[in-house]
Amino acid sequence: NQAGPAFGRVLLKISGEALMGEESFGIKPEVLSYVAHELQVAHELGVQIGVVLGGGNIFRGVSKSAQSMDRVQADYMGMLATVMNSLALQDALEQKGISVRVMTAVQMPQVAEPYIRRRAVRHLEKGRVVIMAAGTGNPYFSTDTAAALRAEEIGAEVLLKATKVDGIYESDPVKDPNANKLEALTYDEVLLRKLRVMDLTAISLAGENQLPIVVFDLRKPGNIKRVLMGEPIGSRVEV
Ligand code: UDP
Repeated sequence: NQAGPAFGRVLLKISGEALMGEESFGIKPEVLSYVAHELQVAHELGVQIGVVLGGGNIFRGVSKSAQSMDRVQADYMGMLATVMNSLALQDALEQKGISVRVMTAVQMPQVAEPYIRRRAVRHLEKGRVVIMAAGTGNPYFSTDTAAALRAEEIGAEVLLKATKVDGIYESDPVKDPNANKLEALTYDEVLLRKLRVMDLTAISLAGENQLPIVVFDLRKPGNIKRVLMGEPIGSRVEV
């Protein structure tokens, strides 16, 4: 007589950097397969899962290497990077027997379905994992913002930000080992204190729509499942 999951439908944001492991670039097969396993365990709970992947492990429009480039051009490269990550994760999930659709915000029908909200929701209802690639399809945005946007569109109950720290800290815990962890925050606190959880556009969008955000450590096995079961791990941003 165990309790069921705390959510019916969620949007999970995974940064591109989470796929590169200890490397400084690209996709590490072992890490990819770890992430796929974590998602499999979570998916088995019966929760509908939408995923937005970043592209920072391959290309970032605001990065140093892109500084001499036209920003819009660089951002398109970043969006394409998220498509590569999405295809890689689709493959890793399919190898585990999970049904997955990749939908892109920039059309490339030979590669993946175009993102159409109603179709995304239909896939979710059928129990398919839906990976939403190419960010918002617009330059000057981030995949964090894409995640907040898609979460709203598909009616996700929560935005889960899987990252490499176990929550939101007063300052960067990698640089400052004495930084305090903040377990519960409001959107305004995040904005005012300029806490670098997600970019400001993403936080404002989530805040405007009262979409709760949970930030947690993806590297600890079982964590996606824990969050879905409603265990109080990581940090929460809500009203
Ligand atoms: N990007 C964009 N519009 C979007 C989403 C992403 O132009 O809606 C570009 C932008 O250049 C960004 C890159 O794609 O730097 C990769 O995304 P992001 O930096 O958010 O990836 P992450 O940090 O999560 O790995």
